[in-house]
Amino acid sequence: MPFHTCPICRKRFPYKKIENSPDFPFCSRRCKLVDLGRWLEGEYVLPGSEEEDSEKPDADKDKEEE
Ligand SMILES: [Zn+2]
Repeated sequence: MPFHTCPICRKRFPYKKIENSPDFPFCSRRCKLVDLGRWLEGEYVLPGSEEEDSEKPDADKDKEEE
């Protein structure tokens, strides 16, 4: 049986067990949330993508025209 390694906790488990799981490719919801948190923290930001930061949503704060 093929095994899959959780990208978060490095835990190995039978692939068949998770391929139908909503948490795939993670072993559990907890690891899925950990991965999401890393995304939000910018840990996965790719090199060279910093130019896109120039379009910050914060710009909308300057539009207080009321
Ligand atoms: Zn895991």
